[in-house]
Parts: sequence; structure tokens; C-alpha cells
Amino acid sequence: MSVVSLTTLLLPGPSCLHLTRISTSDAGISLDLTATRGAVACPSCSVESEHVHTLYQRTVADLPWAGVPVTLHLHVRRFVCRHPACPRATFSEPLPEVVAPSARRSLRLANEQRQLGLQSGGEMAARIATRQGMPVSPATILRLVRRTRVAERVTPTLLGVDEWAYRKRLDFKTILVDLRTNRPLELLPDASATTLASWLQDHPGVEVIARDRAGTFAEGSRQGAPNAVQVADRFHLMQNLRAAIEEVLKQMVEVRQVAAEALAEQTKSLQPSAATTTSGNDEVANPPLPLPDLQRARDPDRKRVQEQRRALRLARYEQVLALHQAGALQQEIAERMQITRATVSRYLKSTGFPERTPYPRLESKLDPYTTYLSERWAAGETNGRQLWQELQNQGFRGSLMSVMRWAARQQLLSPPDPSSRRGRNQPARQAQPEQAVAPLRTRRVAWWLMRRPDTLTPGHQAVLARMEQASPAFEKLYRLSVQFTEMLRKRQVEQLRPWLEAAQASDLKELTSLAEGIERDYDAVEAALRLPYSTGPVEGNINRLKLIKRSGYGRAGFDLLRLRVLES
Ligand SMILES: [Zn+2]
Repeated sequence: MSVVSLTTLLLPGPSCLHLTRISTSDAGISLDLTATRGAVACPSCSVESEHVHTLYQRTVADLPWAGVPVTLHLHVRRFVCRHPACPRATFSEPLPEVVAPSARRSLRLANEQRQLGLQSGGEMAARIATRQGMPVSPATILRLVRRTRVAERVTPTLLGVDEWAYRKRLDFKTILVDLRTNRPLELLPDASATTLASWLQDHPGVEVIARDRAGTFAEGSRQGAPNAVQVADRFHLMQNLRAAIEEVLKQMVEVRQVAAEALAEQTKSLQPSAATTTSGNDEVANPPLPLPDLQRARDPDRKRVQEQRRALRLARYEQVLALHQAGALQQEIAERMQITRATVSRYLKSTGFPERTPYPRLESKLDPYTTYLSERWAAGETNGRQLWQELQNQGFRGSLMSVMRWAARQQLLSPPDPSSRRGRNQPARQAQPEQAVAPLRTRRVAWWLMRRPDTLTPGHQAVLARMEQASPAFEKLYRLSVQFTEMLRKRQVEQLRPWLEAAQASDLKELTSLAEGIERDYDAVEAALRLPYSTGPVEGNINRLKLIKRSGYGRAGFDLLRLRVLES
């Protein structure tokens, strides 16, 4: 490739600029470019002039070459306008392909930095740009981003609406999503009915509005687009049902008793050496215990923390299964629960709850000495340096830090008990086997009720059967729950009316009020069963928005956030 065509390739505005010199310095590469056009139009009268008044130089930053900053020295001209009717005496030569009037960076550099700002936020973009040879400050990035013009969007016929927290619990705003493309359409500055209504009035043509069950958006939609069909969100309906079931379960003493017994039996069958399982018996004796609260996490024992994490994952697993069986798509579940699609897919593929395999540990120089260390620890020696010296005497060649780290971890796991003087054969405390029983929390049982009965394990089915025997009300709850989720899954719109009547006649207070709530929003819930739309893509967009907000360090205002959400 010849030098001439190479510069054509690399330079901005090759048609009107001629490269006269390349030089390098510590600051980067400098290019001297001379304007070459013979005549230039006057900006006031548009008549071309060839009469050069003066020559001058502009210095403009441009895109880097292989990470090296590039500065353009533009040798341009001031022209005289000789048109008799023109008020302008002279004008400077514009270079519209290269740089804006009086700007200090080329158009293409400004655009690159602006795009970086849209995608990464001011701080991050400034760092990336500087590293790549386009040094710039965060403030300048934000200034460039603010110049972004939001592209005109076609008003969709299918619109998704939801609210999101701009400031937690204090300031809510609205996101509108095009449900055909699943792309964000607009961010509204609040979450009021009137703002949504006026947007809808300004953008006629929306035929279907998928929304959550909040009354505000129902009202705004009615005001702004009275002819549009409103669709309640099936996912929110599922959550409403789950919340109602949990409330009912909390009040069912007999059911909690069965849960306690089932848990105790499970525990016992897993630990045949019954001497250590007195805790199981305690739980049978005290019915309020079997559905323990997560607040017990304050216990510093790592085992307990692990068990709680496992219980959370288990609850999540049950929820994924229940939602899937209620007809939610994998992508939707992932977006709503803020877990990855891969996790959802793994849960659905597995034949049972996938236990977490412990992280493989790298072989440590400390390994041959841990028995000794544990014994010394149990004997009350907690000084890391002292322990390290003792190990050195035994031939240990590892670092002091490795022993200090071991001691720090030990401090957390089993704080030293100065009174203990264990014998050498007694196992260290952290060597206890992991207990594989998950407590029967109401939330877990609630998700069982929402799953297809034939997909439950025989064990779970047996527990539910016992609960049904123990409580006729539970039997009713179970039946209504299965009917509801099946209705959602199969979109049996004809079942809605009978279900509402059965729920209202059920004497289960929370289900009755769920039914009353649905009754108030009947048309939209009915549409949710009739039509395939959901606000799942809106949730996905809210998650993306939250990520963008976080990457802006919370300093960027709503206008910047809006630009980044809509244009990046
Ligand atoms: Zn003129």
C-alpha cells in the first residue's frame, strides 16, 4: 500500500486535507495537514470565495494510532467575502467532515469518546479512553454524552410498563419497553398515572399494554389509551399466589407440626448414631421451631452459614421449577429472579437439587501440618508466629503468612476455648460431616404446592399427603393452588371465574383477598390468560438499567441515565 492511500485510509477528511508532515514526540504523533479546497462557501451568503485573508492553525486531537495519541495541526484559512450584499467581511474555513467549529477534538474522536461514555459511564470511559491513547476527563465524557440525541422511535403496538427505583424506596420512575423488540423505549421521570397517560396521548397507536398489577399503571393506561387492552402480568400473579399461600401456611399449626416431624425424621435417618441428634427431638417438642428464621445467620459458625446458603439455593431451585411448570420461559425466570439463564437451565435439566461441590483446594505446604496445628489450637495456642516457629522446627518451609492466614480463619471457624485440653485423637471441630437436611420453611412448602404434583419427589409427596390428612384446610389450599397454577400454565381463561368463586368460598382469608384483588382487575387478568404477553422483557430491561446505574457511580443524573439506557 502506498503512503498516499494509507493516509487516505487513516486521515479524517482526505478530500479536503493534505498531509505535509508527520513528527513524533513524547506526547505522541503530530500530523501537519493543509486545507486544499480552492474555493469555500461563505456561511452567511453561501457565495464561494477564493480570496484568502489570512492563514492560521488549529490544533485538534484525533483518534490514536495503535494506542499512541494523535494531534492534528490543521493549516486552514480565513477567507474574504466579496459579495456586495453580504454583511460578513471575512469567514474562517469550515471543515465539516473533520471537526466542529472551535472544537478541540475531531468529530470522530468525540464520537468515540461519547460512545464509550454511553456504554461505560464517565469515570470508566475516561480511564479506558486514556489507556487507549485518547486522554480525556470524566467531565468531558459526560459533556459529550449529554449531546447525544435520542433517536426517534416508532411507537409500538405492544407496550410493556413497569416501575423501578431510582433511589431505593424514595424515588420511583417508569420504564417503557417495546415488547416486539424487547428494547427500552423511554424512561419517564416518575411513576405516576398522569405521566404515563400523557406519554400515551402523545404516542397514539399502542394496542396492548402489559403491566404489573399496580393500580397506578392501570389508571394511567385507562386515561392515556382507553382503547388499549391491558394485560396483567402472569409472573406477578404467581408471586401474589405464593405470598397468599405462605401467609395461610404460617397460621396452620397442624401443618407446621407435620413439617416438624418430617424434618426430625429426615434428620434421624441421615444420622443413625442417634446420640448426637437431640436437636431433632427438641424440634418436635417445640412446634414453632421447624420453620426457622434466616436471622439465625448471626451465629459465626460457618456450618450454619453454609446450611443457610444451601437453604436459599434450595428455595430458589424450588421456585425455578414451580415457575417453569407454571409456564414461565427460562429467559423470563432468569430475568425475574436475577440469576443467570445457565443456572435456570441447569436446575431444569437436573433430576434433583444440584448440591454444590466444594471448591477444589490447591495443595498447600501447610497440609501435612494441619493435624498438628489443630491440636495446638485446641490446646489454646493461637499465636500465628509461635505456631509458625513450631512448624519450622518440624521442617515446614512455607511462609509465615500462610500460618497467619490459617490462624485467622481458625479464629472465625472455631474460636479457641482456653479451658479445653483435648486429647490427641479427638477430631478438630471443623471436621464434622455436613448435615444434608434442609429445613421445611413455609416458602419451600409454598413452592411445592405450586409445582405440578407429579414432578415432586415421593418424599415430598408423602409429606404433603400427611399435611392434607392433618388439616382439611390444607387440602383445600393445595387444591386451589394446583388449579391456579395449572390455569396460568395452560392459559385456561374459562377456569378463571370458577376459580375465583371457589377461592372466595374457601374460608382461607388470604386466598379470598387474592380473589378479590383479581376481581378488581378482572379484565387485565383475563387478558393475561387469553394473550401470550408478559412484562418479563421489562424486568430484563430493569436489570440492565440497574447495572448501568451502578456503573455510573450514582453521580450521573436522570438525564444521563436515560441517554445511556436508550442509546447504548
Ligand atoms: Zn458572504
